[in-house]
Amino acid sequence: MILPTTPHRPRWRSLALLALLLAPLLWPLQFFAERYYRGELLEQNRQTLDLYSENLLGTLRRYEVLPSILADLPPLRALLASPQDGARQEQANRLLARVRSETGADVIYLMSPQGMTLTSSNWDQSDSFVGRDFSYRPYFREALGGKQGRFFGLGTTSRKRGYFFSNPVREGDRVIGILVVKVDLDVSEALWGNTPEQLMVTDSNGVVIVSSRSDWRFRATRELDKAERAAIVANQPYPTPSPSPLRLDDGVWLTQSRELQETGLTASILAPRQLVDRQVRTTLAVGGAALLALLLLLGLMLQRRRHYIERIALDAQARRELEVRVQERTRDLETLNNRLKDEVLEREQAQQKLLRTQDELVQAGKLSALGTMSASISHELNQPLAAIRSYADNAGVLLDHQRTDDARGNLKQISELTGRMASIIAHLRAFARRDRHAPESVALQPALEDALALLAKRRRALDVELIRDLPDATLWVQAGETRLRQVLGNLLANALDALAEKAPPRRLWLSTEMTEQGVNLLLRDNGAGFSEQAMAHAREPFFTTKTSTQGLGLGLAICETLMRALGGELLLANHPDGGALITLQLRSVAPGANLQPPEEFS
Ligand code: ADP
Repeated sequence: MILPTTPHRPRWRSLALLALLLAPLLWPLQFFAERYYRGELLEQNRQTLDLYSENLLGTLRRYEVLPSILADLPPLRALLASPQDGARQEQANRLLARVRSETGADVIYLMSPQGMTLTSSNWDQSDSFVGRDFSYRPYFREALGGKQGRFFGLGTTSRKRGYFFSNPVREGDRVIGILVVKVDLDVSEALWGNTPEQLMVTDSNGVVIVSSRSDWRFRATRELDKAERAAIVANQPYPTPSPSPLRLDDGVWLTQSRELQETGLTASILAPRQLVDRQVRTTLAVGGAALLALLLLLGLMLQRRRHYIERIALDAQARRELEVRVQERTRDLETLNNRLKDEVLEREQAQQKLLRTQDELVQAGKLSALGTMSASISHELNQPLAAIRSYADNAGVLLDHQRTDDARGNLKQISELTGRMASIIAHLRAFARRDRHAPESVALQPALEDALALLAKRRRALDVELIRDLPDATLWVQAGETRLRQVLGNLLANALDALAEKAPPRRLWLSTEMTEQGVNLLLRDNGAGFSEQAMAHAREPFFTTKTSTQGLGLGLAICETLMRALGGELLLANHPDGGALITLQLRSVAPGANLQPPEEFS
């Protein structure tokens, strides 16, 4: 069987091709995922930054106005009036310490216009500002100029970062002192906690002053120009006179910044891009997996579809083959059928031919029998005719002599003789007729008597002793009257023929025996019996051992055919004591009340 070959590309190739087509879908996915997560992160961080900036600004603003308010306090003015007065200094020191603890500022101190610290809230600590000169700080110079000063710087003694607010203390137009409030920036840094995002504050120089990462502190996020470098050396805001550069890679950090008004500071929040990348990678992995699952599902579906189509094709092919085979078989059967029909026709024709031949044989047999019997029949007829003539002549003479009773006796004889002649003629007619009657009930003994009567003369001539052993009660058999008599006539004639060939004594036995099916009629003679050859061929038409004038070889053939037609059987044998023994197997029937008239008169 040759299957329709569908071009099969390797499955992995189609899948790879499909994956290649679908892979570009991952780029938009990456793009949108990145945009989404970055937006989300930026928004979240912006809020954190706003919160922090507001918090920082709020803190600074709280302290912004503090120096100008403190500048009017009388104990401070009194100290400025006589800076050498120890009692006044003591009083001022305690006042500033109290204000500091109440406001939460880091340090509050008062300087003379020369830059010398006269009183300070930390007067009683080891890093006390009292007696120290801060005239190099820019906030001092700014306040001395009559303005409010602002400055970020590292405490030279405390090493703590602070934001400084300064204000001039005036008397009229004259600046008699400078009041400074230092705010601690270390505190706000400690509150940030340990998150991956980094908050930092840079000053006007772009130098990081506040950051939770200690390695970033006091490093410049941009290039510093000459003036700025000089100012740094002069003002010493940082622990180092030349801050090392800090390069924050945009590829690593997502930076958002906000300037804090008036302070010159910039607050920034830095989120590691990794945060976004990790989420994008997760999304891509999930998307990729989903895509892969989709591909596999698609592949599976395609494969199942292909299998289904293949199976349908196979089924169709098998169906076509079956149809072809059925057609071939039908053709074979038709041919066989036609041949059978032809054979049946031939057989029917042969059978008809056989039937015709048999009919012809029967007819020929009849004619032969007729021929054989014609001599005896004419003799049989001549004899009564001669007798009738002499009886008639005698009757005339008797009437002349008035012997009417004797004449009547003669006429009666004549009547009987004509009756006998009529009977002979009737037999003759029956032999000559071609008929096919349905079997009927026939009385066996009368038929036998009739057949014997026909051959009576010859039997007497040969002096054949007839030995009968027949029951008195009539035996009814299934036969045709004429056909049975024809069979019996033939068989008796054969027996006489055989007996004629031998010397006396000549005997003929007639007997019957009852069987299961019916009646057997046995005819035995003491002639020569069947020769070996005759036993083998006697039933065949035209087989005869007799001289041509006497025998046609049709007798037994006709007998057999007739017996078969009557449902009986003809058996040929030789008697152990010599002579032929012929058995006629006949079927018994109910005593005959035939609806049909007897054969010979129909
Ligand atoms: P036919 O009588 O014309 O020869 P049949 O068919 O009647 O033809 O008989 C065939 C042959 O069977 C006879 O020629 C004879 O040899 C043998 N045959 C028939 N009946 C007898 C018999 N009673 N005894 C011996 N031989 C017989």
